[in-house]
Amino acid sequence: MTAEETLAQIAKDVSVFTHCALHAERKRSVPGEGPAAAEIMFIGEGPGFHENEQGRPFVGAAGKFLDQLLAQAGVTRAEVFIGNVVKCRPPGNRDPLPDELAACDIHLEAQIKAINPSIIVTLGRFSMNKFIPGAKISAIHGQMRKVGDRFVIPMFHPAAALHQAALKPSILADFGRLPEQLQEARAALGKKDLFEKKKEEAVQQAEKPIQLNLF
Ligand code: SF4
Repeated sequence: MTAEETLAQIAKDVSVFTHCALHAERKRSVPGEGPAAAEIMFIGEGPGFHENEQGRPFVGAAGKFLDQLLAQAGVTRAEVFIGNVVKCRPPGNRDPLPDELAACDIHLEAQIKAINPSIIVTLGRFSMNKFIPGAKISAIHGQMRKVGDRFVIPMFHPAAALHQAALKPSILADFGRLPEQLQEARAALGKKDLFEKKKEEAVQQAEKPIQLNLF
């Protein structure tokens, strides 16, 4: 099965599986979205009201803020994968419970294995604690560290920064460092040359129609 096929299968599975109580109030599951070849994977907490309606991640106010943060980092949604630790909405947007996190982890692990991102950006404490148990986000936000075969950067959840104005400068600064951290991760993982080659090919392809127009 290709990585794309695996992600599509996971999306199908989470729409029908009933492995935890969250399925009961699910209108639409939210498996996450983005390319199977994404270099960066963002992992939030769980779907909210709008996400449950649309079946897409980060489409409410926090999603709009995430779009701004991504733009500031020079990346678009189209090139990253965005998902959550639980794929169905916790009632009233409450925190996911330990048994719900444990039940849904199989889907998240399968997504990470299929995508194999260089960097995982955790948004909020639940996804951070999956990779860095017991850490305090106020102490380590924005700091990239190697966890297994990839790098993890814990960041505040965009919704938290919207509700607490004092967090906004921190999340803006953390996203501002993302391009530099991506370069660092590529170099450390030996992917630098690969991505520079891909970038060159993309530039060459973008230039082709201009050359054709000259004749
Ligand atoms: S949250 Fe995850 S484990 Fe729970 S029902 Fe939804 S897909 Fe299944």
